Amino acid sequence: MKIIVTIKQVPDTTEVKLDPVTGTLIREGVPSIMNPDDKAGLEAALQLRDKIPGSTVTALSMGPAQASVMMREALAMGADRAILLCDRAFAGSDTLATSSSIAAAIRTLEFDLVVTGRQAIDGDTAQVGPQIAEHLHIPNVSYAAEIVPEFGSLKVKRMFDDRYQWQRVKTPCLLTALSELAQPRYLAPGAVFRAWREKEVETWNVSNIEIDPGYLGLAGSPTKVKKSFPKAVKPAGCVVAAENGEAADIIMKKLREHFII
Ligand SMILES: Cc1cc2nc3c(=O)[nH]c(=O)nc-3n(C[C@H](O)[C@H](O)[C@H](O)COP(=O)(O)OP(=O)(O)OC[C@H]3O[C@@H](n4cnc5c(N)ncnc54)[C@H](O)[C@@H]3O)c2cc1C
Repeated sequence: MKIIVTIKQVPDTTEVKLDPVTGTLIREGVPSIMNPDDKAGLEAALQLRDKIPGSTVTALSMGPAQASVMMREALAMGADRAILLCDRAFAGSDTLATSSSIAAAIRTLEFDLVVTGRQAIDGDTAQVGPQIAEHLHIPNVSYAAEIVPEFGSLKVKRMFDDRYQWQRVKTPCLLTALSELAQPRYLAPGAVFRAWREKEVETWNVSNIEIDPGYLGLAGSPTKVKKSFPKAVKPAGCVVAAENGEAADIIMKKLREHFII
């Protein structure tokens, strides 16, 4: 099975700070990590590869040159290949331009399974995975919490708010991984050493993929962030002790006091 895992480098924080003037993310001083859902997806892909003889895992990312450090981590975890799409032409991509570029790269590779994370902890849209599946015209099972390989298909445990569902999907297909999908392995120092000394991160630019330039980067992005700002801090609420039957009256009184009703 040829497996491609998309991995994104994200700031190591869920409390992203914004520049009050420009409204853009402040990345300085914030260490970067592999997006947690992607790391779980990569681990699950490596475990699948080990179960199915002849399988390979390729890690694929689109990002600046500094993302090559994360690609080395993917190699240290055990990925057979690491490809970084790195070109100024990709800068300013919204989710559609991102998914178009990644799908174009995937089209140049052989694949049976594409694994993306459910969601990146910085952009947080959860759009890129399903969009890649649409571009490639393959089925997509999102929120994957467990994968069981079967002949020519996969059984996938899909998480809903209140339940799980088992779905069977034929390959080629795309899965979006939850962090619960697999516990990423501990990196042995020898594996890290070999990833830096003996393995290569392949850097691709726009000439390595076939894509209409109109779908690339800022120019190919139909959505633009107009303004970003932190949420206003909510004032503390008040707790009212109420006997049985009193609560509704108290709430109605408060709503009237504040001219809400
Ligand atoms: C309306 C809008 C406008 C934007 N405008 C800009 C802009 O002008 N300039 C700018 O720099 N950014 C912009 N962004 C952010 C940028 O588009 C996103 O970071 C990027 O498209 C990925 O989306 P996401 O982070 O929400 O990923 P999600 O959809 O949450 O990610 C799901 C999964 O897709 C995969 N994935 C996502 N991105 C990558 C990647 N780069 N490489 C490999 N795998 C990936 C990962 O497996 C990830 O877990 C914009 C976002 C939005 C929503």
